[in-house]
Amino acid sequence: MSHPEERARAALVSVSRRLHSAGWVANHDGNASARLDDGRILATPTAVSKAEVSAESLVTLNDEGAVIAGTRKVFSEIALHRCAYRVREDVSAVLHAHPPYATAMAVAGVGLGAPFMAEPVVSLGREIPLIPHLLPGEDDGELAEALTRADAVLLGNHGVLTVGPDLETCLLRMELVEHLAKIFTLSLPHGGPRALDERLVDTLQSKHEQLFPKRLRDSARSHVEDDAPIAPLARAQDVVKDALSRFR
Ligand SMILES: [Zn+2]
Repeated sequence: MSHPEERARAALVSVSRRLHSAGWVANHDGNASARLDDGRILATPTAVSKAEVSAESLVTLNDEGAVIAGTRKVFSEIALHRCAYRVREDVSAVLHAHPPYATAMAVAGVGLGAPFMAEPVVSLGREIPLIPHLLPGEDDGELAEALTRADAVLLGNHGVLTVGPDLETCLLRMELVEHLAKIFTLSLPHGGPRALDERLVDTLQSKHEQLFPKRLRDSARSHVEDDAPIAPLARAQDVVKDALSRFR
């Protein structure tokens, strides 16, 4: 077994234990995966408490999502993880859990709204998108779109998904989302959080983009460009039409 694979296995076991001890999962909730350089994905097994995940219990998938090693089954939410790997070239790990404060907001359909603290904007960007409830097998377009601009997403009626270059970063991002949701909730009796000045958010967002650039895969980029304004294309068509009219 190669060293990077051993390290990934150890990180998956460690992050699973930490999800459990933080109280962010119950029963068999939560899952984690890591993508190796050769495209294989290592994932936590389904139907096992995160306190009991071992290096031997992990499941290996090929880059098409088929299980190629391991004696256990993979979790059904692997589709969410594969969506992240499909959209983002810079993502090598994905983490999903149900941390209570952030999940409470997600099940209530309440997002974190405009940034209300400065440091998290540098770490996570100006927006932590909240997407509608996604059933297994359903079109994951909204998640894919959210991941083109964010590393942490609130999943409606469900929980939190974070992505990153490694599992440690995913865990820290989840910790920050949960902390923000807790502060948001605790501020409500005092009138709720007050948004930061937009100009400050713009400056912090530029810093975030410098520190954590998101590399989209070509397929995701063309998806984003589909939604972009069509003016340049319209102009190109006008030029062609004009040229053709002069030929006739
Ligand atoms: Zn879940």
